[in-house]
Amino acid sequence: MNKSTAFSLDYSTARLRFRQAATLLGWTLEGHSIGQTGPNGEDLTIDIASSGNANPEQTLVVSSGVHGVEGFFGSAVQLALLEHWANHGVPSVRCVFLHGLNPYGFAWLRRFDENNVDPNRNFLLTGEPYRGAPPGYAELHGLLNPRRPPSRWESFFVKALPAIARHGIPALKQSVAAGQYEFPKGLFFGGSRPSQMHQILQQHLGRWLQGSRNVVHLDFHTGLGRSGDCKLLIDYPLTLSARKNLTVWFGAESFEPFDSPSISYDTRGGLGHWCVTRGYASEYLFACAEFGTFGPVKVLAGLRAENQAHHWGNSEFDATHRAKIRLKELFCPHNESWRLKVLRQSMKLVGQAIDGLRPL
Ligand SMILES: [Zn+2]
Repeated sequence: MNKSTAFSLDYSTARLRFRQAATLLGWTLEGHSIGQTGPNGEDLTIDIASSGNANPEQTLVVSSGVHGVEGFFGSAVQLALLEHWANHGVPSVRCVFLHGLNPYGFAWLRRFDENNVDPNRNFLLTGEPYRGAPPGYAELHGLLNPRRPPSRWESFFVKALPAIARHGIPALKQSVAAGQYEFPKGLFFGGSRPSQMHQILQQHLGRWLQGSRNVVHLDFHTGLGRSGDCKLLIDYPLTLSARKNLTVWFGAESFEPFDSPSISYDTRGGLGHWCVTRGYASEYLFACAEFGTFGPVKVLAGLRAENQAHHWGNSEFDATHRAKIRLKELFCPHNESWRLKVLRQSMKLVGQAIDGLRPL
């Protein structure tokens, strides 16, 4: 229990272990194919496990792999929870686990999906156009998205220094990570229409959550923040009661709200904002549980190199393979103490969510 053995070596293994652990608990399973195959020709699916409809009013949702390669961590959290509950009894709230929401990115070691879409920028609300880019993005496009394979000797940091000197890292992060809808092969592209993940959730999420009054949804991510630290990121305006619940259940310092001074950019298309506006429950509390790995420039350099390799490299090249393995390490470090620490914190978070959800 809580051991780093919950981390799987690849998507297929993670998916299989998830399905086996859920079956062992007697949960119902669904798999939704995205019509793509993985490196070994395997069908890529989004898998859903539900504890069933007993006590559906309080529902815990745990999702993994919105950002593909980040699924190595999110899937480990889900497996650790399922194994823990197999030994210690399942919680009294209804549980719905969404596994590998971006299976293409998970299987092919990408943060983005089969159409280079950043799924967490794709969930635009009705009427919001799939157009636009932050003012700084066009200026950085050439630096971020070179039209050639990555080179082993190139230092992104050195190349980026003039831009960092001119704007500073926070401003760079804002113009880059807020998402863009104009450069289809660029980083953080939000897409030009609802993605497959978006369509599958639109079609089924209401059914999976049927009967819910209160939902707490923890969506697991990595790559932002201090190594091993956790922050709950909120991408939508919080109601008073949601803010109170976050404070009481997880602690006043545990979350970073939408209107926090440190998040001054206008992010569109987030999954959380979309979920809470769709009326699935009278209270829908969504948080990205974000765990830090490496510093922002290192992470951005890795994303840039993998994106170059994906679009402009040959899949057989060593350079492509290296860029993808590097990306996996950046979003799911091998370091044993990091793995144990993030799993421990995740289990605690989920325990806090369940305690919060439980009717008094
Ligand atoms: Zn993420």
